[in-house]
Amino acid sequence: AELAKSSTPSEKDLRSPICCILGHVDTGKTKLLDKIRQTNVQGGEAGGITQQIGATYFPVDAIKQKTAVMSKFEKQTFDVPGLLIIDTPGHESFTNLRSRGSSLCNIAILVIDIMHGLEQQTIESIKLLRDRKAPFIVALNKIDRLYDWKTIPNNSFRDSFAQQEKSVQAEFQNRYEAIRVALAEQGLNSELYFQNKNMSKYVSIVPTSAVTGEGVPDLLWLLLELTQKRMSKQLMYLSKVEATILEVKVVEGFGYTIDVVLSNGILREGDRVVLCGLNGPIATNIRALLTPPPSRELRIKSEYVHHKEVKAALGVKIAANDLEKAVAGSRLIVVGEDDDEEEIMEEVMDDLTGLLDSVDTSGRGVVVQASTLGSLEALLDFLKDMKIPVMSIGLGPVYKRDVMKACTMLEKAPELAIMLCFDVKVDKEAEQYAEEQKIKIFNADIIYHLFDQFTAYQEKLLEIRRKDFMEYAVLPCVLKTVQIINKRNPMIIGVDVVEGAVRVGTPICAVRQDPATKQPNIMVLGKVVSLEVNHKSSNEVKKGQTNAGVAMRLENPSAAQPVWGRHVDESDNLYSLISRKSIDTLKDPAFRDTVSRDDWLLIKKLKPVFDIK
Ligand code: GDP
Repeated sequence: AELAKSSTPSEKDLRSPICCILGHVDTGKTKLLDKIRQTNVQGGEAGGITQQIGATYFPVDAIKQKTAVMSKFEKQTFDVPGLLIIDTPGHESFTNLRSRGSSLCNIAILVIDIMHGLEQQTIESIKLLRDRKAPFIVALNKIDRLYDWKTIPNNSFRDSFAQQEKSVQAEFQNRYEAIRVALAEQGLNSELYFQNKNMSKYVSIVPTSAVTGEGVPDLLWLLLELTQKRMSKQLMYLSKVEATILEVKVVEGFGYTIDVVLSNGILREGDRVVLCGLNGPIATNIRALLTPPPSRELRIKSEYVHHKEVKAALGVKIAANDLEKAVAGSRLIVVGEDDDEEEIMEEVMDDLTGLLDSVDTSGRGVVVQASTLGSLEALLDFLKDMKIPVMSIGLGPVYKRDVMKACTMLEKAPELAIMLCFDVKVDKEAEQYAEEQKIKIFNADIIYHLFDQFTAYQEKLLEIRRKDFMEYAVLPCVLKTVQIINKRNPMIIGVDVVEGAVRVGTPICAVRQDPATKQPNIMVLGKVVSLEVNHKSSNEVKKGQTNAGVAMRLENPSAAQPVWGRHVDESDNLYSLISRKSIDTLKDPAFRDTVSRDDWLLIKKLKPVFDIK
C-alpha cells in the first residue's frame, strides 16, 4: 500500500526519472549507491526510501532531506514525485534498459575515481552513453583520498571544499584539470557543475566521496535539477505502458520470473503481455506483480508483496507462465482489447531482427552471441566501430549449431572463424566441436576484453603467417656490382644499391635473355646471409643510405650456382627474386604494412624483367 502511494503520479503529472550508475570497476559505484540509499542521520527513516525489484525508489521527501545542505547555494523545486535508481551498477542494466535502440535511462551517473582518472571501462561507458544518447553527469569520486582532506560528513562538496587547506585545493585542481583534458580527448567538454553555464554542451562534474558522503547532496540536487528542468517532456506521465526486462530469474514458488522496469504507464495483474524470447515471441498473462516488503523485518515472513496494479516508474517482478526463454533487454508490451496479438508479437521481435542490419551481407565475418538484447546491441555497435564484420548473431547459450555457422568461415576467411560471446554459457558438445574444428570461442563479460582477445588472436595468426611465408615475402631491389670478392659459395660481392633496399634473407638473382626462347633466364645466386657497410654488419641497406660499397654475402645450398664470369658478371644488374607468389605474399595482411608505396612502384617496374603479367 505504501508503495502504491509513493508511485502515484504527482499533480503535475511528471513521472520519476530513471537513473543508472556506470563506470570502471572499483571506482565506487556500489559504495556510492549505498551512500545515496543510506537514511539520513538526523532524519532517521528518510522519508520512505523503498527497495524495489532491481531498483531503489527515492520519494521527493527523502531527496528534500538529503539535499537540505544545498539550500545555501541553490534553489530547489520539486516537480517529480521521486527518483528511481537502478540497483545493479554497470553496463548490464544500462544496456538492457532500452527500447528500440534508445535508452530508457533518463540520466546516468558516470563514476570516475579521482585518483585514477579515465580507465578502460570509463571509456567504454562514455561510448555506450553516447551511442544511446543518454544524458549523464560525472561523479568524480574518492575526494576524501586527496592528501589531508578534512571530512565533514554528508556535506555539500562546495562547502567542504571551501574549508580545505590550499594544498588540498591545489591537488584537487590538478587532478580535476587532468581528468578534464582526458575527457576532452574522448570528445567531451566538461565543467564543475556549479560553474557549468551550458548544461547541454558541457558535461557536469560533481566531486564526491562515497565514504564520507560529501558531494552526495550536490549529486542528488543536480540529478533532480537536470531531469525536471531539461527533460520534462520525457517525464510526462503516459498511459501507454513502456517496460523493459532487466533480468530473468527463477524464484522458488514462482518458477521463472522477469524483473521489469516500468518506465511509463500502469501494469495490472492479469494483463496479457508479449515479450521477446530466445526462440521467438512469448505471449503470456501476468500472474503476479511483486515487490519486496517495505521493511527488512517483514521480509522473513513474506518474501514479496503482491500488487493488483503498479504505476511507473518502478521496478517490479512479474510471475507468469512460459518465461523460461524470456530475453533481458526485451520490451514488454501489453496487449490491449483492440490489439492484434500476432502483430504485437512481430513488433516485439523487431528488437532482435532490427539488429540483423549489423550483419555483413557478403557472408564474411565473426559469429556473435550474447546473453541479452542490450549487450548484443552494445557489442554490435562496438564491432561496427572497430570494423569487425559480423556474419551471424544469436542470443543465449552457445550450441553446436552456432559453432557450425562459424565453420563456414574456415575456407573463406580463417582469421574470422571465431565466435565472440558476451557473458553466455557454452554447451559442452559445442565446446568440443569447436576444438575439433579449430574454431576459437572468446567469452567475456566486458566488451573491451573481447576486443582485446580478438585483436591478440588476429596478431597471433598474422605472426604465424609471417613465419610461414617469410621466404616468399621478397621486397624489390636492384643492385649494381662494384667488385666481386669471392666467386665461390659463399659468394661475396661488393654492390651499390640502385633501387629499393637489400635485406638479409632476400634471394638475389641475375636475369639474362635466353637467345633461343627469348624468355628471361633467371639465375639465383643465393640468399643474403649478411650485409656489411664500412665493416659494420647491417640487416638492411637502402638506396642512398651510404656512399660506401656494401659487402653482400650470399649462400646457395643448391649445386646449380651460376658461374661468375661465365653465366653472370659485373655487367649484370642483380635483383631480388620477384615472382607472382612473392607479389601475392606481399599483398597478404601479414605483410601489407611492410611494403611502401615506392616498393610497389618498383615491383611494377620490375615485372617485365621477370616476365610477370
Ligand atoms: P565498484 O566496483 O565501482 O562498485 O566499486 P566499490 O563501490 O565496490 O568500491 C571499490 C573500493 O573503493 C571499495 O573498497 C570501497 O570501499 C572503495 N571506495 C569507494 N568509494 C570510495 C570513496 O569515495 N573514498 C574512498 N576512500 N574509498 C572508496
